[in-house]
Amino acid sequence: MYETLALYIDGQFLSGDGRREQDVWDPATGQTIAKLPHASRADLDHALASAQKAFQSWKHSSPMDRSKILRKVAELARERAKEIGHNITLDQGKPLAEAIAEVVSCADHADWHAEECRRIYGRVVPARLPNVRQTVVREPIGVVAAFTPWNFPFNQAIRKICAAIGAGCTIIIKGPEDSPSAVVAIARLFHDAGLPPGILNLVWGVPAEVSEYLIKSPIVRKISFTGSVPVGKQLAALASAHMKRSTMELGGHSPVIVFDDADVERAAEMLVGFKFRNAGQVCVSPTRFYVQEKAYDKFVAKFIEATRAITVGHGLEPATKMGPLAHERRVPAMESFVEDARAVGANVQVGGGRMSGAGNFFAPTVVTEVPDHARLMTLEPFGPIAPITRFSTFDEVVARANSLPYGLASFAFTTSAKTSQAIGMALEAGMVSINHWGLALPELPFGGIKDSGIGSEGGTETFDGYLNTKLISEMH
Ligand code: NAD
Repeated sequence: MYETLALYIDGQFLSGDGRREQDVWDPATGQTIAKLPHASRADLDHALASAQKAFQSWKHSSPMDRSKILRKVAELARERAKEIGHNITLDQGKPLAEAIAEVVSCADHADWHAEECRRIYGRVVPARLPNVRQTVVREPIGVVAAFTPWNFPFNQAIRKICAAIGAGCTIIIKGPEDSPSAVVAIARLFHDAGLPPGILNLVWGVPAEVSEYLIKSPIVRKISFTGSVPVGKQLAALASAHMKRSTMELGGHSPVIVFDDADVERAAEMLVGFKFRNAGQVCVSPTRFYVQEKAYDKFVAKFIEATRAITVGHGLEPATKMGPLAHERRVPAMESFVEDARAVGANVQVGGGRMSGAGNFFAPTVVTEVPDHARLMTLEPFGPIAPITRFSTFDEVVARANSLPYGLASFAFTTSAKTSQAIGMALEAGMVSINHWGLALPELPFGGIKDSGIGSEGGTETFDGYLNTKLISEMH
């Protein structure tokens, strides 16, 4: 049974009642699986009013009580992971094991926020006069408007919700209309965990219309968005025009640097796993492969062999390792990257096109000898294409890796401690992972620099974007 889709406002699940609806599809078959209700203007106003009202009491709630609710959410998420994962596979396309793992890992995010929200400390600053006391306190910022994407529909939403609610804020979230079941399931988790009405509100609609309406509302004090760089820049500009804080988790174009001294075959095998997870629709996916000259042939041969072994299919089939792209519109986007790569002289070694049959399937693709000016090397591909190129020296590869406006994740492979330390320091990125996949754990900050965003989610930084700093100076 697929999720019963609904809005969630002031503690009520709402649908029908003449609301506009949109179809939700299974991207592996193209079949319609459900109808999603859009929020009317009255629904948005209702969500704003209930979030504003609930904030008046939630901001004074005990962190112990917030912590208990987040822990209960974690427990329920683990219990329901299989059914939630099944529905994510149906409306987003990723293999079932990946979808279930997404939910289970998010239970850890809820637990982390349950622990950390009890440690939102202020400080006492020594004063210049004996009868003065200076206290710095951190207060919840207010009503948050959050906008989350379809690639990790459960993860991207629950991280923002846990941070907002743990900090004592209330939140209105607009989830991804194309893959909506996960965020409805999250609303049910919080509802069943006993969250009082109005603290979490969920709406759906035309993204630009909903975001503009909510960001401009004087009730909203903070914006959080995960998605593409162009949309993030638009929303950040709108938030700034209304002097509102924003957290932006935007796109990336992660370089992978494989040095001659790396364990090359192990690196190739591991990187095929990272690259084609979720059909490459991952903001921190490795997307530009720079391989040093002596390691190049061995790396490419192993990478191609491991790519050929990937089983592509419906995410509910147990053998499937890669599902379809989440939308029809992503298929022509992939085709145009490959067409451009061919036109600038690259070699398509594996895949390179849409797969036959129904659904948005694009073959796992490896392209070699890709020049730096190819679109694949300059624009985020966000799909199952691995472009590989050569480099000679450390300084040269650092300059090429840092040459783009993105700064989200970077990867490097080397057995030299000296090179490892130097590359970790040299790369312009919010996150650098060396010799393994070390990203996106709840206890680690996740976020980008440059065009890839503002602020971090997770780690001890997770509440920073949701708190105001207030000084209270008293003379006695
Ligand atoms: P898109 O830019 O149209 O949309 C990206 C996301 O932003 C979607 O979830 C969409 O619903 C939302 N969105 C779009 N316009 C919005 C607006 N005005 N207000 C609020 N939300 C809005 O692109 P797409 O075709 O859906 O996805 C492809 C691109 O999106 C990729 O190239 C990638 O850069 C980016 N993306 C990034 C992430 C991430 O985790 N950083 C996730 C999904 C998509």
